[in-house]
Amino acid sequence: MIDKLLELQERDIRIAQIERELADIPRHKDEISARLGDSRNALAETREKIKSEQAHLKGLDLEIETRREKIKKLLIEQGSLKTNKEYQAMTLQIRSVEQEIARLEDQVLLAWESMEALASETKGRENALRTEEDRVQRDIRALDERAAALQKELERLRTERTALAAAIDTAWLSPYEQIMAKKRDRAVVRVEDGVCGGCHMTLPPYLKHEARKRNEIVLCTFCGRMLYA
Ligand SMILES: [Zn+2]
Repeated sequence: MIDKLLELQERDIRIAQIERELADIPRHKDEISARLGDSRNALAETREKIKSEQAHLKGLDLEIETRREKIKKLLIEQGSLKTNKEYQAMTLQIRSVEQEIARLEDQVLLAWESMEALASETKGRENALRTEEDRVQRDIRALDERAAALQKELERLRTERTALAAAIDTAWLSPYEQIMAKKRDRAVVRVEDGVCGGCHMTLPPYLKHEARKRNEIVLCTFCGRMLYA
């Protein structure tokens, strides 16, 4: 019976392992997908910068336009001025507005340079995101394949387990299952050098002796697992 129980236990251990791994797969997938977040955020950030730079440029253009209109008006006004002094004063005013325009145009140039840099940064980040998306897709596909293989193995193991369990006397099977449900790792353990293979406590000599006979259920006095030697 012990040998049959050991065979059953081997399946149960593997089944539990597979079930744990399968249960973990959704979390793994989430972790993998989360990797895209950083790349997406980086890209969105650059796109935002471009937008604000565009708004900045629009503002500068408007300011330049306003000043050009102002110069036009001033030039018309200048034409109707009577004295030379007034005329010269107006020339100075116009020149000062022209200087403002020149300063604004310098800013426009800088803004365009920054736009170009941002455009190439966007391109780089788009590429990085695409690469990451490919990688994520590949990793998710690998996980799906892993899950499918595990599912298949699980079905095979469960069929084998049912057949094995059917061949074991209930007098042995029920305690085995009760211990397994409680201990979760193993219900049947080997006595090694007088020590329980489950809890590693030193067993009383009579238990070692009983365990060697293998014809009746011998339980560890410390952890309650079934012993065999
Ligand atoms: Zn024990």
